[in-house]
Amino acid sequence: MERTIFDMEHDMFRDSVRKFLQREVAPHVDRWHEQGIVDREVFRKAGEQGLCLMWADEKFGGLGLDDFRFEQILIEEIVNHGDPGFGLSLHSRLVGPYLGALGTPEQQSRFLPGCVSGETILGIAMSEPGTGSDVSGIRTRAEDMGDHYLLNGSKIYISNGINGDLFVVAARTVADQPHGLGLFLVERDMDGFTRGRNLKKMGLKAQDTAELFFDNVKVPKENVLGDPHKGFYYLMQFLAEERLIVATGCVAAAESALQTTIEYVKERHAFGQPIAAFQNTRFKLADMRTRIDVAQTFVDRLVMDHNAGKLSAEVAAEAKVFCSELEGWVTDECLQLHGGAGYMDEYRISRLYANARVSRIYAGSSEIMREIIARAMGLDPRQAHRG
Ligand SMILES: Cc1cc2nc3c(=O)[nH]c(=O)nc-3n(C[C@H](O)[C@H](O)[C@H](O)COP(=O)(O)OP(=O)(O)OC[C@H]3O[C@@H](n4cnc5c(N)ncnc54)[C@H](O)[C@@H]3O)c2cc1C
Repeated sequence: MERTIFDMEHDMFRDSVRKFLQREVAPHVDRWHEQGIVDREVFRKAGEQGLCLMWADEKFGGLGLDDFRFEQILIEEIVNHGDPGFGLSLHSRLVGPYLGALGTPEQQSRFLPGCVSGETILGIAMSEPGTGSDVSGIRTRAEDMGDHYLLNGSKIYISNGINGDLFVVAARTVADQPHGLGLFLVERDMDGFTRGRNLKKMGLKAQDTAELFFDNVKVPKENVLGDPHKGFYYLMQFLAEERLIVATGCVAAAESALQTTIEYVKERHAFGQPIAAFQNTRFKLADMRTRIDVAQTFVDRLVMDHNAGKLSAEVAAEAKVFCSELEGWVTDECLQLHGGAGYMDEYRISRLYANARVSRIYAGSSEIMREIIARAMGLDPRQAHRG
């Protein structure tokens, strides 16, 4: 189905991103997969190409490009011609905007140029060993000591956790209020800040995912983002875009799985005919084509809504749950159509399948997305969730 939201400028951008990925990312994907982390150099190369924090103001080296379609293209191309373990969108659109929206002019001029050039890699740390979905359960504490906050606690499953230089860390500033959180900018070399090992995962192998530890870390007041008691509300504010980013990647991965499978079933023969000739195969692929077109149309519409400042948290949750479950179903069915080959790491479908599993969990699980959608339908929420 023809997509209608892009114009010539976007097509040219897609072309240049593809060339960049083919040159700077594709040759390293297998090595990154094996080593469990991308070379941090690739962020700098993306920065040189103008691909980091494209929305940032020109005075910080950015392009001042707030049209989400450019980020959408980048996400899609990274899935198709790069590696989704390369956490560029997390850097640019999941974390960077906290600095853009909440940072003081001083914080912005201190940090944004490095983020735009790709020298300063960003991460966000909400999840903890004891809590993930329930943000109000965060136990990492930030105690007001006058000229600084004293940070104690730990975080888990943090993307860009090893490569990261600057983390937005959510910590409790009010002991007895579930929503009493602040956001703190923790820098790589701060005393008392350490990281655990790079966690081994079933998918997204090239992404470094780590634990972070804070042992009496002195965070100067200049590194507090916004109001130190409004962190919970800030987090909620940014989650709609996070869901759209994930949904965009899910549809791109589903499309990629479909394309690689179409090629495979035409080549592979059984019982004297291509696998593609079986009615089961054709019907399955036809169902996938249909559902992916529906999902893509939905996501494209939300991208335009987002550009117009009209993306709601609950509709973004609908997209996240629908597209992540679609990705799970498509990659599973496509793997089945590959037979034993699909289980082998060297086949693209095997990685797409393993990567897909986390889409239903991170950035708010499917269950939490359904809670948000139900709440917007007027059904009783009772407790606060991630979202
Ligand atoms: C690869 C990876 C990268 C990640 N990157 C980051 C990152 O960069 N930063 C970060 O902060 N976090 C990150 N996370 C953490 C991720 O956001 C959490 O894992 C996710 O929010 C779920 O939290 P949890 O793991 O604690 O599960 P839990 O909250 O313990 O949930 C366990 C199960 O219970 C269900 N459940 C929980 N509450 C309810 C409810 N009210 N109703 C129904 N069911 C419910 C959940 O849906 C889930 O199925 C990452 C995770 C992974 C796997």
